[in-house]
Amino acid sequence: MNELYSSIENLRSEYREIFKKSLAEIANRIDELRPDGLDADVTDKFPVNSDGALWQTKVLDMLENDISKEVYRKYKEILAYRSQFKCVGCATCCNLACSEFSPVELKQKAENGDNFAAQFLSVFVPYASKEDARKVYPEYIKMLEENKEDNVYFYHCPKLTEDKRCSDYENRPQICRDFPDNPLSILPKSCGYKQWKDEIEPLALMLHSMVEIIEYYKEKIPQ
Ligand code: SF4
Ligand code: SF4
Repeated sequence: MNELYSSIENLRSEYREIFKKSLAEIANRIDELRPDGLDADVTDKFPVNSDGALWQTKVLDMLENDISKEVYRKYKEILAYRSQFKCVGCATCCNLACSEFSPVELKQKAENGDNFAAQFLSVFVPYASKEDARKVYPEYIKMLEENKEDNVYFYHCPKLTEDKRCSDYENRPQICRDFPDNPLSILPKSCGYKQWKDEIEPLALMLHSMVEIIEYYKEKIPQ
């Protein structure tokens, strides 16, 4: 169990380092587009059609059309690599699904057209209590508590049989077929995709940091 806690802590410090590197790399690329002699920040306000405004246009284009596409391509590669691993049928993901949304919130989201929420609700039902969820995967619940992650709701799938088989396997929905599609999600040691996650995690963290930085600049650069 200690390993689980230390891996979360490592992830946080690892992410900080990765974020700093990504930031330096993107800032460098922004600097390469800087007009000669312009001593200003790319988030400053510039007069229309000035060198500064032109710089901002080029930077936004670079963020959206170069870096974002690069991030997307690498993310697709990560998902393609996943096909080299297999589900070993441990059933943990059927028995314990977590969401930051309550059943009522998920229902509202589904009614507003959120396809993931609709699928999630078509599969999972909430646990009566956190203690029931704890029996399935105690390390995970403890880890959430240690990290003061209070806003989590616990669900399970009633189609899972006593012997941990899916009773409707042929008709299981897409979210079951795609799991795990987030390389940053926490997977149990028993999961057949754990090695995939461990191998690609540094790259996935780097891509995540780049997306955060791109969003920051897109919000801060006056348009
Ligand atoms: S539908 Fe089947 S595969 Fe999907 S969560 Fe339920 S038991 Fe698991
Ligand atoms: S946790 Fe991983 S190995 Fe276990 S059932 Fe889910 S996908 Fe399969």
